[in-house]
Amino acid sequence: MMVRLKGIQTSPGIAIGPIYLHDPEDPWIDDRRISDVEAEVGRFVATLEEVAEDVKVIRAQVEERLGRDYAQIFDAHLLILEDVALKDPTTQLIRQERFSAEYAFWRTFQGVRRQFDAIQDDYFRARKADILDIEKRVLAKLCRQEDVLLDRLTTEAVVVAHDLTPSDTAHMHRDCVLGVVTEVGGTTSHAAIIARGLEIPAVAGVESAIASAESGDLAIVDGRRGLVYVNPDAGTLARYRVEAKRFQEVRKDLSALKDLPTVTLDGIAVNLQGNIEISEEVDSALAYGAEGIGLYRTEYLYLASSSLPTEDEQTETYTRIARQMAPHPLVIRTLDLGGDKLSYILHTSPEMNPFLGWRAIRLSLANKGFFRTQLRAILRASVTGNIQIMYPMISGVEELIEANEVLEEAREELRAEGVPFDERCPVGAMIEVPAAAVVADQLAEEVDFFSIGTNDLIQYAIAVDRGNEKVAYLFDPLHPAVLRLIHNVVEAADRQGIPVTVCGEMAGDPWFSALLLGLGVDGLSMSPMAIPAVKRAIRSITMEEARVLAGTVLSLRSCEEIRNHLQEALPPEVRQALPEPLFTEAVLEEDGPEARVEADRPGEGRA
Ligand code: PEP
Ligand code: MG
Repeated sequence: MMVRLKGIQTSPGIAIGPIYLHDPEDPWIDDRRISDVEAEVGRFVATLEEVAEDVKVIRAQVEERLGRDYAQIFDAHLLILEDVALKDPTTQLIRQERFSAEYAFWRTFQGVRRQFDAIQDDYFRARKADILDIEKRVLAKLCRQEDVLLDRLTTEAVVVAHDLTPSDTAHMHRDCVLGVVTEVGGTTSHAAIIARGLEIPAVAGVESAIASAESGDLAIVDGRRGLVYVNPDAGTLARYRVEAKRFQEVRKDLSALKDLPTVTLDGIAVNLQGNIEISEEVDSALAYGAEGIGLYRTEYLYLASSSLPTEDEQTETYTRIARQMAPHPLVIRTLDLGGDKLSYILHTSPEMNPFLGWRAIRLSLANKGFFRTQLRAILRASVTGNIQIMYPMISGVEELIEANEVLEEAREELRAEGVPFDERCPVGAMIEVPAAAVVADQLAEEVDFFSIGTNDLIQYAIAVDRGNEKVAYLFDPLHPAVLRLIHNVVEAADRQGIPVTVCGEMAGDPWFSALLLGLGVDGLSMSPMAIPAVKRAIRSITMEEARVLAGTVLSLRSCEEIRNHLQEALPPEVRQALPEPLFTEAVLEEDGPEARVEADRPGEGRA
């Protein structure tokens, strides 16, 4: 029987293949007593050292494959291994109770687990994965069990797991791991970050994934829609095979567009940029033809390390990326911690509604020293390359003025210290709170550019949690209210003569390109791999067609009417050029293209 599961899309693409249920058994711990306690203590200490060596090897491999930011995840593991709070009670239990090293260690860990379970903080809950990872490794060695990590996977498979530890994800190889499905996690989890880096389709937050699957079952992972099918029926499988093939062909065709200019048929140039979370993604942005980084989510710099990055470290990272991207711009967004991104760094307490709480610019303005350090680092880096500063989650003009005051203080300090920086470094505001969209005319007087964050704008305008699959059906970029807000922002920016880009996920969907250009948006910034398809969509329309389309859409009353109009109004050659149809899930199921049904085959691959 086919089972269809819904989760949160964390990495796009389609994977079809046999499931590998990654559900490592806890090693068997027996409570045997030992006679030679000092030898047992020695065995325990030597094991910790061995595991630390293994972690260092993994760290080096990850650094080589994925870069420094990913590798830093393993620094936390090394810290745990050195922690006396684990070592001392374990050796004490061995000496006093004559427990075996594995039993003593397991007992000590039970206490640590309980402490972590009691902490109501997202950061610490996420760190539990690191702790459990270490427990698993140490116990596997003490019990001399086979390695229980993902590197035992030697054939192509879709990995289904409750959660993946950082070690698991570090062992994911593109050659074997076709797709990833986890029961927990979201867009900020280690697994999601690494899956995106490796371009492996992934879906997180799939509640009953393990209960619904057996190793060897066939699965489809639809990373774009956040869907997973276990034992798909013949029709669904056939449709997805067609879609996966098309996805691959389109990707191949699109690579030819890399060096072509992004211009409409009537010669209007449009700026396409990449969104990045970690500095290693710059290579991918350049490979896909990004003409700049329109959104650098700097909070990942903080999330990837176990201590606060210093001003010098930040300056070094920003300078390196700016150099790589020059002469194109690098838009550095100041910290957007809070919400779904952990705010442990500033030791915030849990909030009832974190997305409506102490987040982004609010957090920065409440910690001005901390904010000024980041601004100083950005300014110092601005002497190289083409750097721009952008504030997240601005909700009104006072906030913007206050942020600019802190920026001016940072400038004053640098001037006094004789440190060079770009005096004309542009400053922009993200428009992602509906209030900001409404008072965009006032905000436009204070900044050099706007960037519309549609992920949050949609979430706040429609009151729909962007990470909650239960209300995902309401999260629609085509909601008339969202489009009116965007229209209002563009009009206000035009009156003030400042440019507007869109940097939410909406910008990376080629079905929306004509509409956004028609609404008057000047540029689009998206996840790098989305750039070629959007470029093709833009190269297939005239600006005049786009304006007419937007004009009509603004007069329509529902998402459905707008969706239908987009499908009807776009010229056939534009529709053909689009890589993925703007079908709803219902259309996918009912109206998918006919295809010959073949017997289920394992190892079909990834598109
Ligand atoms: C957005 O809200 O659209 C955006 C780009 O910012 P983030 O996704 O990082 O919140
Ligand atoms: Mg946002």
